[in-house]
Amino acid sequence: MIDNKKQIKDWIKEFEDKTPGEILSFFFSEFGEEAILATGLGAEGQVLTDLAAKTNQPFRIFTIDPGRLFPESYKLIERTNQRYNISITVYFPETEAVEHYIQHHGVNGFYNSVESRKACCRARKVNTLMRVLSTAKVWICGLRSDQSVTRTNMQLIEWDERHNLIKVNPLIYWSEKDVWDYIHQNNVPYNPLHDKGYPTIGCQPCTRPIRDGESIRSGRWWWESPNHKECGLHRD
Ligand code: SF4
Repeated sequence: MIDNKKQIKDWIKEFEDKTPGEILSFFFSEFGEEAILATGLGAEGQVLTDLAAKTNQPFRIFTIDPGRLFPESYKLIERTNQRYNISITVYFPETEAVEHYIQHHGVNGFYNSVESRKACCRARKVNTLMRVLSTAKVWICGLRSDQSVTRTNMQLIEWDERHNLIKVNPLIYWSEKDVWDYIHQNNVPYNPLHDKGYPTIGCQPCTRPIRDGESIRSGRWWWESPNHKECGLHRD
């Protein structure tokens, strides 16, 4: 059995000066089908998809449809598939879990309390993610450390205790400007809502555009305090 923590420490050292594309390339060739790229269809996910396609290696990519996405997000799936000649696997929540949530909390019960909101995210997203990740050894995603107060301690490569796998965040050191410079320079397809004041885009009822001076995560679950603003995909 490999010593995961030591291996991860060595990788962090080894990949410190490598580009995100080189990091992706390594994990695709080393882990094949057992490395899985997660995209939430946001700006970072689109950058990673572009970088992954440019490795010219086969790779697994997925997104989760919690059932409440913006129409623009569905169109982006199609545009991205066409652009890169890929097929993003779309995973859905278990029907019974969503039905149970709606029965007990109401169809928009997430506005009522943090607990109710987290229960919705759990039923629609977190449990779905767990099901997907149980088929992988490496989970690659587009987290950046300056996205929110809940993400400042994240590492380039981490051991994810909860899902029992290696988590790789190739864009962890990138700024928002780095992401958008990359998108424009490489003509990466992106969600048109970004041009209408939405820096991050999740489910339609839980995402709003932000005002000048607000942090980029303030458009998500805006009725809650910043310390609660995770859906549970990356932190409890
Ligand atoms: S973001 Fe909102 S609608 Fe989507 S799963 Fe979470 S609470 Fe439910």
